[in-house]
Amino acid sequence: MLKVPPDEAAHSFLHRPKKRKRAVASHLLPTYARVDLAFERGEGAWLIATNGERYLDFTSGVAVNALGHAHPKLIEAITAQIQKVSHVSNLFRIPEGERLADRLCKASFADTVFFGNSGAEANELAIKMARKYQYAIGKPEKYRIITFEGAFHGRTLATLAATGNKKYLEGFGPVSEGFDQLQAGDLDAVKKAVTPETAAIMIEPIQAEGGVRVIDQQFMKGLREICDKNDLLLIFDEVQTGMGRTGELFAYQRTGVTPDIMSLAKAIGGGFPFGACLATASAAQGMTAGTHGSTFGGNPLAMAAGNAVMDVMTAPGFLENVRKNALLLKQRLAELKDRYPRVILELRGEGLLIGLRLAVPNTEMVNELRNEHMLVAGAGDNVVRLLPPLIIGEAEMSEAIGMIDRACARLAKENERAPKREPAA
Ligand SMILES: *Cc1c(COP(=O)(O)O)cnc(C)c1O
Repeated sequence: MLKVPPDEAAHSFLHRPKKRKRAVASHLLPTYARVDLAFERGEGAWLIATNGERYLDFTSGVAVNALGHAHPKLIEAITAQIQKVSHVSNLFRIPEGERLADRLCKASFADTVFFGNSGAEANELAIKMARKYQYAIGKPEKYRIITFEGAFHGRTLATLAATGNKKYLEGFGPVSEGFDQLQAGDLDAVKKAVTPETAAIMIEPIQAEGGVRVIDQQFMKGLREICDKNDLLLIFDEVQTGMGRTGELFAYQRTGVTPDIMSLAKAIGGGFPFGACLATASAAQGMTAGTHGSTFGGNPLAMAAGNAVMDVMTAPGFLENVRKNALLLKQRLAELKDRYPRVILELRGEGLLIGLRLAVPNTEMVNELRNEHMLVAGAGDNVVRLLPPLIIGEAEMSEAIGMIDRACARLAKENERAPKREPAA
């Protein structure tokens, strides 16, 4: 039981020094170091806090709210569907899901789609599918998967092992077997790491959580060749890069390298939680009736949201507009980088997945921007991620630049006074 009613507790810790434990304010498992800020509603690129203050949302629920908040098409689709039927079992056909799978396949390399509930689950299936493929073609000894340092594939036991981050694995027992982690960029190391037990290579085209690290195209091409030569499957984790974020529907379309399996989630439902694992018919050949399942996966409500997102993203001009806005935003950010070299070290990313590698701690930038009423997300490599909704307008981008400008000015001043705070890059 809480010692004080949640409301009172939430209010009282506002006035406490930072170090006090916050867990007392809520019964939620304290696995997040949450900011003491809550939102009541959203409008497009804006979130309105419970105290009425407006925040420019360049986090988008970590690349989820691609259509911004309260998009009329999404509201309409979900409302219409929930009035008909929200959930039926996968024991029956789900026409809305068949339609979305058809659209995703037409828009990509894939022949088949499985709908699940999250990014981690989509990756779990990608891993299972790759192993089952090898099993189905008579190579059951091939089950190991090559992954890369700086990756993020999720928080389930297998996707954690694929992620390979020691901090996330600590204390959770034996690490799920069968993952070999290498440094991205070194093709010779990959060639050497392929053994008769290797089944697949798994990579994010841009390591988003890892610090918006764009994977080199030549390296991607090399991975494709290694896979083709050794009958390995190439898995792209596009949970964050997929669904328009980079200015193409999928990031692989920018690289000219096509995977065999691709996971999607985050923006696919525009805020309605679901994920998908896409694959070629060949890669999916082991996944026959009974080999995988999900109670909620691909239910009509989720599929209505997904079809609404596809309607908006495949409308003429939508992705062009993302590319145009991305260019504009990057030009303005490059100017800020030139003006504040002691704050911004490097501009990274593709489309509207933008990273600023900083000379000051990224947490300080996140805080300064929040003081400006702008929300951004941190990432590895001391990077701040800018993830505006894909429907962002020019006026909002100008406002964002003004906010970043002011935050940089303050941080530059502080940095001058205490230059030793500069972290090792
Ligand atoms: C967010 C993310 C995941 C995990 O997705 P969840 O829906 O949180 O399980 C996996 N891979 C990448 C690249 C991600 O960005």
